[in-house]
Amino acid sequence: MKDCLFCKIAAGEIPSDCLYQDEQIYVFKDINPQAPVHFLVIPRAHLDSAAQIDETNSAVVAHAFEVIARLAKEQGLESFRLVSNVGESAGQSVKHLHFHVLSGRDMTWPPG
Ligand code: AMP
Ligand code: ZN
Repeated sequence: MKDCLFCKIAAGEIPSDCLYQDEQIYVFKDINPQAPVHFLVIPRAHLDSAAQIDETNSAVVAHAFEVIARLAKEQGLESFRLVSNVGESAGQSVKHLHFHVLSGRDMTWPPG
């Protein structure tokens, strides 16, 4: 999608610290980490948020979760938090579906 930051990152038009990529998804370090480990997992195909997931596009979400589990294992993450903010009130600042993976510190619940 034109003028979407994460579409441009996935396309390599804006630099990022890439951890993994394949034909469906792109994984990169968050530029403003909120934990010692903080990376983002995005589909290459633009969706505004998790609210747009439906039967026509949900396969990429299953794939993303498989890769998240694999990367967590490879990085030795015993515990991690998986977050997807939907809408501004929930804290979404970039309107391209992304999953935050946070780890490396104790976390509190409920989130703010
Ligand atoms: P959210 O606020 O849930 O929409 O998450 C967006 C995330 O993208 C934030 O954690 C930002 O720090 C991160 N972010 C914004 N711009 C970049 C960038 N150019 N490279 C990496 N992460 C970014
Ligand atoms: Zn996009």
